[in-house]
Amino acid sequence: MNEGAPTPGRPAAVAGPVARLIEALHKLPGIGPKSAQRLTYYLLRASEAEVRALAQALIEMKERTTLCSLCQNVTEDDPCGICTDAQRDQSTICVVEEPLDVLAIERTRGFRGLYHVLHGVLSPMEGVGPEELKLNELLARLRNGTVREVIMATNPNLEGEATAMYVSRVVTPLGVRVTRLARGLPTGSDLEYADDVTLARAIEHRQEV
Ligand SMILES: [Zn+2]
Repeated sequence: MNEGAPTPGRPAAVAGPVARLIEALHKLPGIGPKSAQRLTYYLLRASEAEVRALAQALIEMKERTTLCSLCQNVTEDDPCGICTDAQRDQSTICVVEEPLDVLAIERTRGFRGLYHVLHGVLSPMEGVGPEELKLNELLARLRNGTVREVIMATNPNLEGEATAMYVSRVVTPLGVRVTRLARGLPTGSDLEYADDVTLARAIEHRQEV
């Protein structure tokens, strides 16, 4: 393929490398075609040092992070800083869908236990079953008897509720109490967008599943 030739739909006024960056940025969540163009032309004007720093940060983010073998959160060191923090309550695990949810709950400063990141929710429609989630890793953590409570902090929507029910079914026989965030979080929304006070209250007033 001749990279220099304008591809169909791309105006000849846009240089190939510029068009490719616009396309790459447009694939990111929340970035529409206009934003992708604006970011690209911003970077075009930025200093070479600034652009290199950004590229380097992207590459290092991929190369120098891994999943914590315990909580499955993204980390530079395995096990992560939360799992190795002796000050944290080892008897409670808060189960969330995504790494961003850990950030949201940490921001509230109201939770001092440990986390477990499922990396998704059960969704028969999208073909996501228990095997696709980090569920076996969760069960393995519960088997030594240290953990007494699992707080299901999946999002308050259909998939989140179904996932909480499923986890409750497999965890309860291990003698571990399963609770769910209190109602009051906006239904259908994402945990990461809940304000800190609402989220802290939902954790504090959690209920039995
Ligand atoms: Zn961890």
